[in-house]
Amino acid sequence: SKFKGDESGDLSPRQTPGVLYSKAHPSPVPKPKLLAWTENLAQDLGISEPDDEDVAVLAGNKVTTSMQPYAACYAGHQFGNWAGQLGDGRAITLGEWENKGRKWELQLKGAGPTPYSRRADGRAVLRSSVREYLMSEAMHHLGVPTTRALSLISSGEEILRDMFYNGNPEYEPGAIVMRTSPSFLRFGNFEILAARNEINNLQKLVDWTIERFYPHITGENKIIRWYKEVIEKTAGLMVEWQRVGFVHGVMNTDNMSILGQTIDYGPFSFIDDYNPGFTPNTTDLPGRRYAFGNQPSVGYWNLGKLGNALLPLFDQPDELEEAMNFYEEIFWRKYYEMMANKLGLDKVEKEDQLLIAQFEKVLSTVNPDMTIFYQLLTHLPKDLTKDESILNYFKDSFYEFPEESEKNSLLELINNYQNRLKQNTISEKESREKMEKANPRFVLRNYLLHQAIEELEKGESSLFEKLRVALKDPYSKKHDEFFKKRPDWASKKAGCSMLSCSS
Ligand code: AMP
Ligand code: MG
Ligand code: MG
Repeated sequence: SKFKGDESGDLSPRQTPGVLYSKAHPSPVPKPKLLAWTENLAQDLGISEPDDEDVAVLAGNKVTTSMQPYAACYAGHQFGNWAGQLGDGRAITLGEWENKGRKWELQLKGAGPTPYSRRADGRAVLRSSVREYLMSEAMHHLGVPTTRALSLISSGEEILRDMFYNGNPEYEPGAIVMRTSPSFLRFGNFEILAARNEINNLQKLVDWTIERFYPHITGENKIIRWYKEVIEKTAGLMVEWQRVGFVHGVMNTDNMSILGQTIDYGPFSFIDDYNPGFTPNTTDLPGRRYAFGNQPSVGYWNLGKLGNALLPLFDQPDELEEAMNFYEEIFWRKYYEMMANKLGLDKVEKEDQLLIAQFEKVLSTVNPDMTIFYQLLTHLPKDLTKDESILNYFKDSFYEFPEESEKNSLLELINNYQNRLKQNTISEKESREKMEKANPRFVLRNYLLHQAIEELEKGESSLFEKLRVALKDPYSKKHDEFFKKRPDWASKKAGCSMLSCSS
């Protein structure tokens, strides 16, 4: 209510200068059916299992009297270029929910057109909704900051989509996810106000964001201190993505959360074979801007765009530039801390930084399965010294058996690592426990998602349900039926490792 909005309720696509949001009523769907409900999130929210009327709300078919649905206005830089106004084109926030002092925005994704839908339909297909539903929950249980998903509804509507792999228009079943977060504000919400020179609105939004989500920041120099916290959270998120092997795929500034959460699940993927150049996004070829290994520097670039948007609020622009230098410092600090945990080291000294760089280099050339390699490393037997037995031990992580020179570099690495472990000041048990907490054993691989979706489209939900259970426990050995490399067929099949941008 503090902000000026477009209250017309007009859903036709258009530019909306001067406002931060537009009132947008969800469009009803023919046959909503609840496919999944996130019980542990519902408990946090204090909401009981939905009945038919609740399902109507989760589908956008019913709006209660206390709800004031709206779509947010934002802009963004897409693939490095200014894209102008974007906004919630297929997301509609129903309102804010409060329980036990915590607050969540409740947002429907795929609930129909808004003024920001541009040429698209405001809908989401089952395929992309299942991916968002499962992956955001998987990330949550991995301990990575993320938006969450409360429900998944199939809409009973057939949606027209241009499938990238054959170019023919095809219909796909539609779906709606209700996602939650304290806030879905993006860098792009600030960028649009600066671009339109709406400095008063910008100041109001920044003040509100600090008051609401960074309430400990009070007194002098609030904005720069807040910006530094956004830098710190974003750097932390980049490190977490590197830890678990997550590639977001579309790190445009409109997909960067002001809270440092993973947001907007599109053509993401976990890394199977370790390769810093891997991008799951077919739209990102051949540039590979959003490849796995680029994410930390894209995070920096995006923060620069946020900083630019904040410029009008500063008398001394160099303050912002100085704050940017802080990114590198905080990123490396967090990165080495994270790698120490992954490798079970007590601390990271100068020589350890070299060892960590050696890990990066060898993994990038041998390209073992990232998850399996780190699991094997976690349980590396102490007495494993013979070259042959070491290679044999890591065999299950190889997609291709290493060539002579790769073999030697791997053996040298393991040798250095074993010597380094001997200098640990923590016990072997402590070291292993660190590793067990830092290295996931179950990751939601793209081919598994692909299989689960193919089944669901045929009305079969057993793999989907199994994945829902496994993703809650990613560090345990309980779900070892999924502890294997990506199968050969999946490397070749469209949609199994790469996807297009929006669906
Ligand atoms: P993304 O890169 O997927 O985050 O989307 C970029 C922009 O396109 C955002 O403003 C989305 O709301 C919008 N968008 C994507 N898909 C659709 C759709 N099916 N209908 C309307 N808007 C969409
Ligand atoms: Mg987006
Ligand atoms: Mg190679």
